[in-house]
Amino acid sequence: MLCTLLLPFFLSASASASTFPSVRTPLQAPSGVQAPAPLPRGDREGFEDRSDFSPGAQHDPAITTPDAILGQPVGSRLARHEEIVLAFTTWAAESPRIVVGNHGQTYEGRELLHAIITSPANQARLAAIQADNARLADPRQVRSGELEGLIHSTPAVAWLGYSIHGDETSGADAALAVAYHLVACTDADVTGLLEDVVIVLAPEMNPDGRARIVSLVEQNSGQRVNLDYASMARGRWPFGRGNHYLFDMNRDWMAGVAPETRGRWSLLRQWTPQLFVDAHEMSGLDTFLMYPQAPPRHPALPKRLLYWQGIFADAHGEAFDRMGWGYYTREWADAWYPGYSDAWGSLNGAIGMLYEQGRNAGQPIQREGGEVVPYREAVHGQVVASLSNLATLRANREALRRDAFEHRLTQMQPAEGKDRVILFEATRLGSRLEPMLQALLDQGIEVARLGQDQVAKDVVSSLGEASPERSFPAGTYAVRLAQPQGALVRSYLEFDPRIDAETLADERGRLERGEASRLYDVTAWDLSRQFDVAAYWGTLALGDDAKPWLGMEPTRGSVLDRRGRTDPPYGYVVDGADDRSLAFAGRAMELGLVVHLADEPFAPDLGVEPREVFPRGSLLLRRHENPGGEAALGGAPATADWNQLVAQAASETGVQVHAVRGGRAADLERADLGGGHFVLLARPKIALLSGPPLSQTDFGDAWQYLDEVLRLPVSLLAAESLPGTDLRRYNVLVVPSGDVGTLLHSEWPALQAWVRSGGTLIAIDAAAQALADGELGLGDVRLRRDVLEDLEPYGEAARRQREAGTQELDLAQVWGDVPATAPTAAGEALDQEATEPEVEEASDDDAASEHPLAHLDSDLQRADRLARRFMPVGAILRAEVDDRSWLTIGTNGELPVPYAGSAVLLSSGEVPVRLAARDRLRLGGLVWPEARVRLENGAWLAREGLGYGQVIFFAQDPTYRGSWRGTARLLGNAVVLGPGMGAHQPSGW
Ligand SMILES: [Zn+2]
Repeated sequence: MLCTLLLPFFLSASASASTFPSVRTPLQAPSGVQAPAPLPRGDREGFEDRSDFSPGAQHDPAITTPDAILGQPVGSRLARHEEIVLAFTTWAAESPRIVVGNHGQTYEGRELLHAIITSPANQARLAAIQADNARLADPRQVRSGELEGLIHSTPAVAWLGYSIHGDETSGADAALAVAYHLVACTDADVTGLLEDVVIVLAPEMNPDGRARIVSLVEQNSGQRVNLDYASMARGRWPFGRGNHYLFDMNRDWMAGVAPETRGRWSLLRQWTPQLFVDAHEMSGLDTFLMYPQAPPRHPALPKRLLYWQGIFADAHGEAFDRMGWGYYTREWADAWYPGYSDAWGSLNGAIGMLYEQGRNAGQPIQREGGEVVPYREAVHGQVVASLSNLATLRANREALRRDAFEHRLTQMQPAEGKDRVILFEATRLGSRLEPMLQALLDQGIEVARLGQDQVAKDVVSSLGEASPERSFPAGTYAVRLAQPQGALVRSYLEFDPRIDAETLADERGRLERGEASRLYDVTAWDLSRQFDVAAYWGTLALGDDAKPWLGMEPTRGSVLDRRGRTDPPYGYVVDGADDRSLAFAGRAMELGLVVHLADEPFAPDLGVEPREVFPRGSLLLRRHENPGGEAALGGAPATADWNQLVAQAASETGVQVHAVRGGRAADLERADLGGGHFVLLARPKIALLSGPPLSQTDFGDAWQYLDEVLRLPVSLLAAESLPGTDLRRYNVLVVPSGDVGTLLHSEWPALQAWVRSGGTLIAIDAAAQALADGELGLGDVRLRRDVLEDLEPYGEAARRQREAGTQELDLAQVWGDVPATAPTAAGEALDQEATEPEVEEASDDDAASEHPLAHLDSDLQRADRLARRFMPVGAILRAEVDDRSWLTIGTNGELPVPYAGSAVLLSSGEVPVRLAARDRLRLGGLVWPEARVRLENGAWLAREGLGYGQVIFFAQDPTYRGSWRGTARLLGNAVVLGPGMGAHQPSGW
């Protein structure tokens, strides 16, 4: 059955198993032309695996086999996206057991295909099954006495999701074999399974990534097969793991940055499965990892998750034993981070199961023990695992349904009898808060708005301020913890979940012994800090007048003219607190408009009361500077109506633009609009370094943000062609993280000349570390490990920045009425310099090794090396924001920042975003005491002026996983505002 039409063009002719046209060779070769035979693909040269995936099973001959579609046995080579679509649409036309649909589209335009496979009788009542399933997912919908009947009569639901990492290919090929078996097999075990289970199967969760790896494998295939694992190229950069923007979608389930994720949310909310399979691959030298999971375990996960994972693994292990295959559980892949596919399934009440099959990328390989594993065997492993899990689900379906219901019911009960609620201040709606809340809503989390002012008790803010009571105005957004999706609420929004003591002790021991951390992903992630929205946990019973929030209105940018006059406006302003103002500024400059940025708050005359104050960073466009605003040079006619260009930029970027009456400030304390507080911006011409040796995910994060979020034209500049590239075409160069030290150092003379002539060089993470090298002669930013013997100036600079402007002036001292003392840190240092006697230089006779201080250096180095073991694998830290820097526009006071890894940047120069002192540093996640000492006062964002240009250092990826929207703003500022604010462009004439 075909529910959503996906028929590719080549299926429009009638296709049967015997006459099925090969997708690869639609045309005959011309006669008389000596063409080479096409290169063989997949398993070959005697390494074929022809084993029967379902030995002894009977299959309906009327159903087209996947082998017929591929022209060779399923799993013996990589199936292309079009072949996968063709197979499923063919089966949907041939069998009443399957319907196929499309739950989204990738950036590159490929459909996100899914199939619903169940008995024809169930297919006939799918809507009723969905409705019953939905009631079981919301205990409020189930009347007392009704539960057992519903559990008995509703088939279990399984989610089988394959190859979310596109280059972990065997899953998608296995999906063809699994689906064919379920659709065609006439044996009682399959027909019975389909009576009891509805299978929602997503054969290819990352079609763009798969297309990348398939083309690479095909392009790299040769006449001879090579069994060497190292030759099994994972592909060229960018590999097939991520989606179009190279996002790891197995970390995206919480925030849903990728359209693929949002499509899956929507499909899965219709089905709420009890089994949630996520089929991956790992090193080809390895065997097969399956769940139960390793510790630590997130407390919001279902109580009996581990128990059930054990039951599934028992049967799965037996099935693998029958094949004689290796496998293991619990050695890695923990249950702490909630953004994985299977974690999402489990938090929704399913039993999440991860498969990690050793990978071959479509060709046979030899493992270290000498065993040759054909690609088809890897595919076979995924098939056996899937069918085993389905059988276990069927055998336990009522108990699993009961536990899933229990999980949701438990979530609805207030913890310790308290109505815990997360409250969000109704600010930054369009660009931050509502997109974040929409992601929650799209996952079935209920969001409300207070109907009146309410007081919450025991309140803690996202920046760690506690207060016994706090009042929240009507309109505040609220998410209750006690709701059917409470497990998601808790795991996404809890500020500081703590890893259990036993796991922590084990982790500490490993690090002490110099072993690698066992933590598999970041240890802190709460969404309100990622988005930097003001959030509070408190106790509060929502009033009856609280209204459910139904989602974002579509945003339409427009020009608002409230002047009540028809003469042309003096100009236009845009609120800089709205992150979209950056997109507007970029687009407006691209359209040729002249844009200024306010360096302090101002009050333009909009012709309305009360007067509105626009924050620093807001934009101003003046009529007299813009084309068409005044007669152009030499009295030539204006080429464009600037008012229309402003409206166009507003509508394309979703911002509200306000028309201004005149240049005089509406508030006489504030700046008039023609003066020096409005700095001229320069159009950014942006190059983003790409290709090897950059980190694909870090590159992808920056690319997606600049291209999709800010809608800026960006040149992707291949790192390998950086030498020899004429950088004068650009005034912004962004270098994402990666192994770029050698490149940046060898290119430094050219880069430095470009920066000096007005360029803005933005270096992120490892790129920033590479530039924090004293030998480059680039100012004050250093790696902490390089300045261990002289840390004091950095601490002093941090203190000075914190104290600046806060101390009371002693006027008697200022005017010299009393003897001078040194009240400040800077003064103290001066005092010491003046009073301490110079230490005598060691005499030239001493060998360097006998220098009395020689041991100190090595001791410091050793201690630091040890301390580096304890640096966070991924935590959220408190950073202090210099609100006088243009780089921090759009942030307030303090900013949660992500941190991972051992490198720490220090600077005694300009540090717009600085890590807090050690005792205030940790906001969430595991940060050992040694790490807090190393991290305190570190530069998270630093800037160095150089000639007419500047270098901007980000210690970490500001656009991490696409969901760190608070810190992403800093990168947006650097890119869009940098050429005008921190660098000097030659002025035209
Ligand atoms: Zn994977």
